[in-house]
Amino acid sequence: MTAGAIVPPTPAAIAHAARLLGEGRLVAIPTETVYGLAADATDDRAVGVLFTAKGRPAANPLIVHVATLDAARALGRFDARAERLALALWPGPLTLVLARTAACAVVPRASAGLATIALRIPADPVARALLAAFGKPVVAPSANRSGEVSPTTAAHVAASLGDRVALILDGGPCPVGVESTVLSLAGPVPLLLRPGGVTRAAIEAVIGPVATLADVPDSDAARTSPGLLGRHYAPHIPVRLDATSVGPDEALLAFGPRPLGGAAAARNLSATGDLAEAARNLFAMLRELDSPAYRGIAVMPIPATGIGAAINDRLKRATADAALPPPGH
Ligand code: AMP
Ligand code: MG
Repeated sequence: MTAGAIVPPTPAAIAHAARLLGEGRLVAIPTETVYGLAADATDDRAVGVLFTAKGRPAANPLIVHVATLDAARALGRFDARAERLALALWPGPLTLVLARTAACAVVPRASAGLATIALRIPADPVARALLAAFGKPVVAPSANRSGEVSPTTAAHVAASLGDRVALILDGGPCPVGVESTVLSLAGPVPLLLRPGGVTRAAIEAVIGPVATLADVPDSDAARTSPGLLGRHYAPHIPVRLDATSVGPDEALLAFGPRPLGGAAAARNLSATGDLAEAARNLFAMLRELDSPAYRGIAVMPIPATGIGAAINDRLKRATADAALPPPGH
């Protein structure tokens, strides 16, 4: 198999991928959220190679993926809230930030030297099979260069990191399409660090009210969630949100049954106004519209309810430092 080859996730390919991880290599894997760039979380050199491959700042900690709740308990200190959430919502797109255990086998570099660790059991069957075959924790940030739009197909991974990965397991398009929800349980009040595939309502149904970064001072936010602030998930051309009109030189990212007319090109996240479908389509459609042929991408308003909170969060980050003026300005 050549480096960076896209292969179907057969049992033989999964076994091969597990061997590659054991050799300190990087393997791209499907998850239900986005494609992940996997490395052995207990191998300091492999984790270093991963940071370099992504061009990711060393201060931006990684999420550690495991196959079982017992494996997670060996790495992070589970209190009653964490236990309840894990039992209710794992496997799934929820990441829990917990205090590290004394015996935690994950290298400090993976967590950017923090006293906490971010943990998740993914639901994707290929990811789970690989984690089970490998038998050790795996770091798996999105399989793209840092700052780019996340990959939701194997082809997206090949376009961004094809020359950096030993293998790309092809699990088809990701069914959730946005990254995991990150919830910190490191302090007394549960703190939602990043909206994602599990809704705030689903979490609050299990443990009651959670705070968000809007509830804490900026300085605390930067400290508790390094890497969550600023521009990210960004196409190469400017993005303009809540568009109510669109110029003939703009691309349109529409939502709902009445897309704006007159754009140079258009995609509709969901013609029926279905937020889950919109999340699934978000990153692929941003990539399709990301062409220097257009002045920018105008995005129609999308409700911030349910998984819409994650969609709006990603779109807002895509506009940071690169606002596109409306037509005629
Ligand atoms: P990504 O791997 O790109 O999906 O990003 C994972 C996000 O989880 C990062 O932006 C981090 O800020 C957050 N994260 C990971 N580990 C921790 C941690 N120990 N404490 C707080 N946030 C974390
Ligand atoms: Mg990412």
